[in-house]
Amino acid sequence: MEEAHPTTTANDEGRLKALRERVLSGFPEDDGAELVELLRSVFAGESFSVSDLRRVGQPVVYVSDGFLALTGFRREEALGRDLGFLMRDDTDQEEVRVVRDAVRDGRAATALVRCYRRDGSLFWNEQRHYPIKDSRDRVGHLVVVQRDVSDLVHARSANEVARQLASSLGGDGAFFSYGAILDAAGNARISWTHDGVASVLGRSPAEVQGKDLADLISPEDRDAVRERLRALRSEGGSRRDRYRMLAEGGRVRWVEDFAAVSWRSTEADLVAVHGVVRDVTAERLRRLEIGDVDALTGLPSERVLDDRLDQAVRQSRRYGGVAGLVLLELDNFDFVHRTLNPRRGERFMREATRRLQRALRRSDTLALVRPGCFGVVLPDLNDTGAVVPVVEKLLAWVARPFQDGTLRVELAASAGVAVAPADGRRTEVLRERAESALQRARAAGGSRFAFADAELGKAAEERLTLEHDLRRAFAEDQLVLHYQPRVHLRDGRECGVEALVRWRHPERGLLLPGEFLPGLYRARLGDALFEWVLENAVAQASAWSERGTRRRVSVNVGPGLLERTDFAQVVQTTLERWHLHPGLLELELRSEFELRDDAGVQALDRGRDQLGAVRRLGVGVALDDFGAVATSFTQLRRLPVDALKIDRSFVARVGDSAERGDVELVRAMVTIGHGLGLTVVAEGIETPKQRERVCSMAVTEGQGYLFSHAVPSELVGISPTATE
Ligand code: MG
Repeated sequence: MEEAHPTTTANDEGRLKALRERVLSGFPEDDGAELVELLRSVFAGESFSVSDLRRVGQPVVYVSDGFLALTGFRREEALGRDLGFLMRDDTDQEEVRVVRDAVRDGRAATALVRCYRRDGSLFWNEQRHYPIKDSRDRVGHLVVVQRDVSDLVHARSANEVARQLASSLGGDGAFFSYGAILDAAGNARISWTHDGVASVLGRSPAEVQGKDLADLISPEDRDAVRERLRALRSEGGSRRDRYRMLAEGGRVRWVEDFAAVSWRSTEADLVAVHGVVRDVTAERLRRLEIGDVDALTGLPSERVLDDRLDQAVRQSRRYGGVAGLVLLELDNFDFVHRTLNPRRGERFMREATRRLQRALRRSDTLALVRPGCFGVVLPDLNDTGAVVPVVEKLLAWVARPFQDGTLRVELAASAGVAVAPADGRRTEVLRERAESALQRARAAGGSRFAFADAELGKAAEERLTLEHDLRRAFAEDQLVLHYQPRVHLRDGRECGVEALVRWRHPERGLLLPGEFLPGLYRARLGDALFEWVLENAVAQASAWSERGTRRRVSVNVGPGLLERTDFAQVVQTTLERWHLHPGLLELELRSEFELRDDAGVQALDRGRDQLGAVRRLGVGVALDDFGAVATSFTQLRRLPVDALKIDRSFVARVGDSAERGDVELVRAMVTIGHGLGLTVVAEGIETPKQRERVCSMAVTEGQGYLFSHAVPSELVGISPTATE
């Protein structure tokens, strides 16, 4: 980094020697012209000025062409003025004073000062002052040779350098770069900085420029920093240090300062330093919090893992959900470690760490349990199944081949999983169970994972498979609608059909809703299912209509659907698309979902508008599975529904061996329905006795195996009374 700049060349030396001799021998008074002639030959091509120090105001009496080129001033503008016209208030007066004192004593001196060109632009001016004595040994004239060293002071494309430095230092925190001039006394005057300084210190560049770096440093660290700057000044090169800076309002920020010498003036005895300061306060706090950090991987220790696991378990207890602990061990780490050189082993550990970090969420904790074995805490998971994709991802990422020089190594890993609360709530228990699961996975041949509780793991995997299969079911058209007729109990005539979804599973055969709906809702496919069923049911009703059969079709509305603000809109556009009369569609509201708890009731309140809009279209609404869950009568009264379907579990109890209480209960439900002016439908009628009983209660419509199973669309109306 260090670039010692030769400010005086051998040739220079020769000319200066000649000048010195000439000057020492003294000039005759008022012999300015001869002096200038001499200087022009000595400093040919350079930027220099000559001032007459004997006259009031010490006017400039000569400027070279180089001076005019450097400053942009015209000769007549420069002559007759004090050379200070190049400077402004921000020029370091102390520096100027030191130089003037030297000159008065007849000594040559060099200064680095901020100067301004005629157009107002700033440049760093390295001024070499040569006092010229006359024959009476008085300093009569002053020659000042000027050089623009801005580039050197700022370092070329400083921002580019800053960016590169900052990225090589890592981290994404706030940073700023700066330039400073180090003098012999150990002061570091900040010569420039940029807006980034505000993000670290909360001060503007103007507030910081010109200040001694030490003034911005916390008193505890000031001496140490001064010491390191002195070392940097004398030894050159670069240094990286951490210390505390004082931000606006006295706040303390921990920073990492990477400083390098960018330029050195031997004559002026000044060193310019270019530094990048990065805010590491947050990082430091994290480290203090997490304690020991593994030097190789930068990962926290086991203690931290336990701590985070404990936190995650507490959180799951308080807010529900599941906390997962994964122990992941590199299968062939021992082999790699023993057979390859240690440096290679270290590189693999670092690479594995990097991959695992990338595969995890921000809230997850990755720690090193022992060489080759990582621990991962997964807080706040919805359920056990949510661990599976994470572990699969971790194993897959680790398993990608590594290229290390010419060597290609494939790492594999095994993992053991324990979850809270299912496997326990204490960290030791969870650690132990995850460890034994890990050993099982390894014993089974590695490259796999195992759950502490095999049953739990199996269920989680099955659930995940189901969700995966369900998505495929939509994509591959494996879903199908069957229709179960609803009849007038009086004469057995069909009065509509309920569309019921079936899944033609490629391996498991035809599945009923109970086997896959819960998984489907967990996979948040409820909306997609509703739209699919609605579309197909309406299309089917429309097809029946075209063939001359006006048959009303009922579609079940799953949980949460009424919260959709476009619910009524979806229904309307579907009807329009298939030109179906709205009266040929009924929606069955699954009270088991909607009215289960307060949240459900509130959802229903919000959904009432949607339901109202649907009814205004002319679409019927029925309350499904009535009685299966507690329904608030107030809610019931306010619900915009046309029909009430009494849950099959009640109907089942009014058969041959019915108890009086059960019969009365159903009767009461029917009375409520009628009282509210609703059509009452009995679901799940399987025997003639049940039919007789509900008929006696003036229930007008029924549905059940007694009349028909759910059948494919082409069988509807053909076999109206399927056998039992
Ligand atoms: Mg239903």
